Amino acid sequence: MNYVEYQKKFPTEQTVINHFIQIRYGSSVPHCHLCGGVNRVVPERGRPKFFHCNDCNSSFSVFKDTIFEKSSTDLRDWMFAIHLFLNGKKGISAYQLKREVPVTYKTAWRMLKQIRIAMGNVDKPEFAQTIIEIDETYVGGKPRKENRRKDDDGNPTAKSKRGRGTSKTPVVGVLDRTTKKIHARVAVPNKNGQMLTGKQLLDVLHQVVKGKSTVMTDEFSGYKILAKTEHLHFRIDHTKAFADGFVHTNNVENFWGNVKRGIIGIYHQVSKHYLQSYIDEFCFRHNNRKNENMFDTLLGQCVMKKVVVHSTEPELCAA
Ligand SMILES: [Zn+2]
Repeated sequence: MNYVEYQKKFPTEQTVINHFIQIRYGSSVPHCHLCGGVNRVVPERGRPKFFHCNDCNSSFSVFKDTIFEKSSTDLRDWMFAIHLFLNGKKGISAYQLKREVPVTYKTAWRMLKQIRIAMGNVDKPEFAQTIIEIDETYVGGKPRKENRRKDDDGNPTAKSKRGRGTSKTPVVGVLDRTTKKIHARVAVPNKNGQMLTGKQLLDVLHQVVKGKSTVMTDEFSGYKILAKTEHLHFRIDHTKAFADGFVHTNNVENFWGNVKRGIIGIYHQVSKHYLQSYIDEFCFRHNNRKNENMFDTLLGQCVMKKVVVHSTEPELCAA
């Protein structure tokens, strides 16, 4: 949909509200959030997002528990922001959005944050009876000044170390080689301060993998735990080759390439606090890359389920 088509389809804010009501409730009239009734639910005069239920005498917003709940921004601007966000292959920055829709930088930034929350508003996929690739990567810029590595004279070195053992944040990705769907989680240290223990890796794997599978990893010692499971485990030694027949983790590594190019190219840097929502954005783009109705899928995710706002405590800390 280009801008002209978009304006024709949604000439007023009311048309956007009606569109979301149709998506959320599957009809042109919402059901009451309190008693579930539909027969005596009527729009409130002068408050287009609100309905009144005459059965239980309560009022409710049709955007309750959605990313739009507290927003006063025109929903046409929201729709257009979502459209732009998806059309940019790697997303857009808040500065770009501010140039396209009449909002402040702060509002633009918040809108993008909310859209990312909607992108993560999905049930976990289920990978069964298939080949699984699991791999980790490290995301983040240079460490803060006080954490920067020192050389022998005590002067900070210019570059932070790469890969394992850095102060960057680890992210674990699990990919189903048949469907190419990915599930990725940001790791946080466990209570002993350890990062990426075997148990943490296994937890992420078992969030999506149901039943016995064939699992491809690199030589990282954390994956030794797979020997204690029912999975068939194959390892590729990256010091020797990137692939040995069907033994490789190339699909996950391609995904990490996109994540890193996206974060460096568009967002420049991402704080640890918001990293999971950026990872959710890249997972959404990857998992919907062949979905011709990606825009509608995302609109559904904006309003269909109760939005869970991301904390910085992903499940990984349980180990
Ligand atoms: Zn009611």
